[in-house]
Amino acid sequence: MKLKNYIHGEWIEGNSEGIKLYNSVTGEQVAIADTAGLNLKDALNYGRDLGYKNLSKMTFYDRGQMLKNLALYLLERKKKYYEISYKTGATHADSWVDIEGGYGTFFTYSGLAKRMLPNTPFWVDGDTQKLSANGTLLGTHILTPSEGISVQINAYNFPVWGMLEKLSTSLLAGVPSLVKPATPTSYLTHAVFQDMIESGILPEGAIQLICGSAGNLLENMQDGDSVLFTGSASTGKKLKSMPSISQNAVRFNMEADSLNCSILGLDSKPGTPEFDLFIKEVRNEMTTKAGQKCTAIRRIIVPENLIDDVQNALIKSLEQIKIGNPLNRETRMGSLAGKDQYNEVLEKINLLKTDTELIYDGKQELIDADYEKGAFMSPKLFLNDSPFTKDISHNVEAFGPVSTLMPYKDSEEAAALAKRGKGSLVGSIISHDNDFIAETSWKMATTHGRIFVLNRDNAKESTGHGSPLPTLMHGGPGRAGGGEEMGGLNGLHFFLQKTAIQGSPDVLTAITKIYQIGAEKKYADLHPFQKYFEEVEIGDALETAGRTVTDADIVNFGNVSWDHFYAHTDATSLTGTIFDKTVAHGYFILSAAAGLFVSGKKGPVIANYGLENCSFFKPVYAGDTITVYLTAKEKVNKGVKGRNIPSGVVKWLVEVVNQREEVVCVATILTLVAKKSPFVKINFKDFEKRLKNLKSETLPKWGRMKAQEMLEHLETTMKYSTGELETDSCKTPEDQIEAFQDSLYNFRKMPKDFPAPFLEDGKLPDLKYKNLDEAKTHFIESVKNYQIYYRENPEAEHLHFIFGKLNKEMMELFHQKHVTHHFEQFGLV
Ligand code: NDP
Repeated sequence: MKLKNYIHGEWIEGNSEGIKLYNSVTGEQVAIADTAGLNLKDALNYGRDLGYKNLSKMTFYDRGQMLKNLALYLLERKKKYYEISYKTGATHADSWVDIEGGYGTFFTYSGLAKRMLPNTPFWVDGDTQKLSANGTLLGTHILTPSEGISVQINAYNFPVWGMLEKLSTSLLAGVPSLVKPATPTSYLTHAVFQDMIESGILPEGAIQLICGSAGNLLENMQDGDSVLFTGSASTGKKLKSMPSISQNAVRFNMEADSLNCSILGLDSKPGTPEFDLFIKEVRNEMTTKAGQKCTAIRRIIVPENLIDDVQNALIKSLEQIKIGNPLNRETRMGSLAGKDQYNEVLEKINLLKTDTELIYDGKQELIDADYEKGAFMSPKLFLNDSPFTKDISHNVEAFGPVSTLMPYKDSEEAAALAKRGKGSLVGSIISHDNDFIAETSWKMATTHGRIFVLNRDNAKESTGHGSPLPTLMHGGPGRAGGGEEMGGLNGLHFFLQKTAIQGSPDVLTAITKIYQIGAEKKYADLHPFQKYFEEVEIGDALETAGRTVTDADIVNFGNVSWDHFYAHTDATSLTGTIFDKTVAHGYFILSAAAGLFVSGKKGPVIANYGLENCSFFKPVYAGDTITVYLTAKEKVNKGVKGRNIPSGVVKWLVEVVNQREEVVCVATILTLVAKKSPFVKINFKDFEKRLKNLKSETLPKWGRMKAQEMLEHLETTMKYSTGELETDSCKTPEDQIEAFQDSLYNFRKMPKDFPAPFLEDGKLPDLKYKNLDEAKTHFIESVKNYQIYYRENPEAEHLHFIFGKLNKEMMELFHQKHVTHHFEQFGLV
């Protein structure tokens, strides 16, 4: 099967014989990769134009949601990818890391976006700086997606994670990408990519794929583009120095091979939990993915007096590893990615043999597999007895189940050996001696991208030496390429252009959509806490009445809070302090401010959500009068799950001034504010008015009900919710009831094509009333009864045909959706 490439929004085959791809376990051909004849220059332009246009206009928040939807879509299809992954030589556990680790990255970034990124296409970075004495010139920074395309070149060892890990940041940043997987395992990348396209979740031009040779792709890179490369240091350096890259403003991130180490602490003798953890960790790192991991442990640094113990324990542990066909349940280690990779590793092993001793060469029999046909290699352990003179173990990386033991004397030497790798993605220390750990890690940090410390305290929850995590930086200095990937939101900066913005407070407010001190405020009669999330505008403001602080306030607050700090209570001990008299508690000022600015009447504000950046500038004494200016500063959209009312967070600037208009306190308070429901409220008086427009000849916008049938149907439904009519059957299966009930809380409208499940043979019931007017009267009566019934019986619950047993709150939500659905059907909303 020839793998098609996806460029310009089309699936296109190459026009040459292509490169044959093989099952690394059986040696059978799996697919052909071919990029010959593709117009890659056009593909890049297509991404830069359409892909950029579509992605960059979305908000960070929406792109986060897009990642989540994609991950959910792929998760449903994971079985298919596991079946393909076995062909790359990966065991089930190896595939889990690759496949589900990839989704995990999407989920993590979607979560970060929804919690921390704005619902705008740009991102304000950092605080505002005051640039002039009177505050009429301010400065800040904004981040926007870099205009260009990101070419992502991946290694063969993680065909799924490699792609998804890079896409998680480029897509979230709003930058289109062209993925070029390593050819040998590109058939697995292809399967996942194809589903991403078929999902229809991504906008046009967002991603493209080529399987096979990169051809002249990189010769066509331009200013604003970026390249993310994972693979060998030699290829990486070659690509980075290409004129199209080095002579244009093309950002290049390299993640190359590195000789990562693991250090056993001086304290971790046989018999300690750390000794056992060390043996297990090294064995796992040598054998998962058959050692083909950029983070695998290549150098095992051990106290010189423990070398024999480690050697014996490790060999014993490696001997137990079952190697073979990944489809067999007993198999713990699969094959290398292919014969070419096998030969390359063998070459490196021969090099290592020239200066160091091969002390273990596994002789495992294969399970359900054949050394001849597949690319299987048993684990190999070397010993470098003189690691400060024999440099080969610090230079030669055999990208397979191969590692070298070496001795050290003290933490100084351990760190010096760790640094001889000249830059690693990760180094680990396994010890229970915090002084040793601290000493060694400070010294080795300069040449490491990540330091992983393992001991008895974190072993149970440990994610392991070899696992990069989306919230932490993946990359390393020097030999490891000098790149940085992921690292939480930091990983987005590679794809974003940072721009400093200078202007007046009004200008900065307009650009950033965040209220800046000094900008114009919008005062209105309506209290801002009476506005729904959508209605609140940045700059909406309130000036409160004043409150004169009394001695009694200070004494009472001290008693209520038990805060009897001397400055509030003891006028005799103020000599030499910054206070002239007993001072009001800062938290009292804040509480009194809240007392002034909140609106007592129930409204869309659901709750106090928190407090940010609170500062007190001047003391407030008894006799001072405080006034509060409350201003809507920023709005943060919020994804709401389950049975929560859809809402967003509004951040309010609180400025408390005294009678001299001196600012005494500034804080940002956060409120959770409900979004405006698109549904009608259940109110018989409102319905009476609306129904005046309903005539018997009014035609429905969908469905086959006539006006009178609709009203009789609504009346019946009302009666079922008060117990006047009763049903004992619910048509929804028990295990789906919860999800159905959850759906009552969201703002999605009822589907127009939902067939009412309680109608016999789909037939509408016979009419009950003489005419429409009579039906109107009965319906209004039923709504009035419903309202009164739940005021009198707030604890009542009744069974609903579709949503199961509903309480008062859920019943109300149901009717709001249901009545809106039918009122819209007849143009009454
Ligand atoms: P390469 O550096 O040869 O290849 C890595 C990626 O670069 C592949 O997608 C490859 O594509 C691509 N590539 C190669 N040449 C070009 C080019 N001229 N233009 C554009 N893309 C190019 O590494 P290998 O995959 O062959 O692995 C070799 C060694 O790299 C391993 O033995 C190991 O030492 C190291 N490695 C490091 C990894 C890490 O994560 N840091 C992961 C895997 C390997 P194609 O497959 O089509 O050649």
